Amino acid sequence: MNWQQVDFKSSFLSNTVAPVDVQNPHYIVVSDGEILGLSAHEQWQPLSEDELRWSMLEIQSSHFLGLMADIPLFAVEVNGEAEEPEGYYFETLWSFLSSVDIDLFYLIGRAKQIVEWFQTHRYCGQCGGDTTSESADRSRKCKDCGLMFYPRLSPSIIVCVNKGQDILLAKNVNARANFYSVLAGFVEPGESIEETVRREVLEEVGITVKNITYFGSQSWPFPNSLMLGFHAEYDSGEINIQEEELSDAQWFPFNALPNPPAMISISGWLIQDFIQRAEAGLV
Ligand SMILES: [Zn+2]
Repeated sequence: MNWQQVDFKSSFLSNTVAPVDVQNPHYIVVSDGEILGLSAHEQWQPLSEDELRWSMLEIQSSHFLGLMADIPLFAVEVNGEAEEPEGYYFETLWSFLSSVDIDLFYLIGRAKQIVEWFQTHRYCGQCGGDTTSESADRSRKCKDCGLMFYPRLSPSIIVCVNKGQDILLAKNVNARANFYSVLAGFVEPGESIEETVRREVLEEVGITVKNITYFGSQSWPFPNSLMLGFHAEYDSGEINIQEEELSDAQWFPFNALPNPPAMISISGWLIQDFIQRAEAGLV
C-alpha cells in the first residue's frame, strides 16, 4: 500500500462496524489530543499492525472508521501520559492542517474527534451510569437509563460580508499583529443558520446584512466544529465593534486586503471566491 498515492476523499468508505475478518488493519493513534507518527515514514501515514505493536503503547480503546482503499482503518486511543516511543513522534492536529493533504487532515480530525467523544462519554451525563457502544451506529447508550449519546458536533457560521467591492474583515482581540479575517460564530439552539449569520454580524460589528447565500462547508475539528460558509451583502448600519471579541473591523477593497487568505480553511476559500467574482466584474 503506497499511502502517498491514495486519494483520501474518493477512496474512503465510512462505517462503524469492522469487517468480520479484518485484514491488514491500519491505525490512527491518538494520545491526549496528539497523533502518533513513525519517523521512518517520509510523510505521515496510518500505522500498520506491526508498527503499532512495536510502539509498545498500551491501547485503551479502538474505533472502526471505515475502509480506505479497502484497508480497514481504526482510530486508537493510547495512554495520554505515554512518552514518545523511540522512532515515533506525537504531533498536534493543528500541525497536520498545513503538512498533509486536506482530505487526510479531515480523516485524522475524524479519528481524534471520535476518540475524544468516546473519552468524554464513558458515563451517562444524566444518571452517571456506564455507557456502552451500540452496534448499529456510532453511539453510546446508558446501561441504566437508556439515554443515547452521539458524537458531538458544533455547527458554526462563517460569513464574508461585502459592500460593493469591499470586504468586511475583523481582527480578533487575541489575533496576531495584522491578522484580519471574516466573521464567524456558533449556531445557537433554536436558530436557523441564516438567523445565526444575521445575529453574529449584528452582534460583532453592529450592521445588518441581506442576500445571504450558502457557499459551502468545512469540518473544523478544533475541537468539533462544522463550519458553514456564507456570502452576505451589507444592508444598513455603521461598524461598531463588540470590544470583548474584536479589536478592529474595517471595509477593505478586494484588491488591497491586509493579508493573503490561507487556502487551507473556508475563510480563505470564501475570500478567494469573492476576489475572483470581483475581478470578473460579477460583484
Ligand atoms: Zn443514564
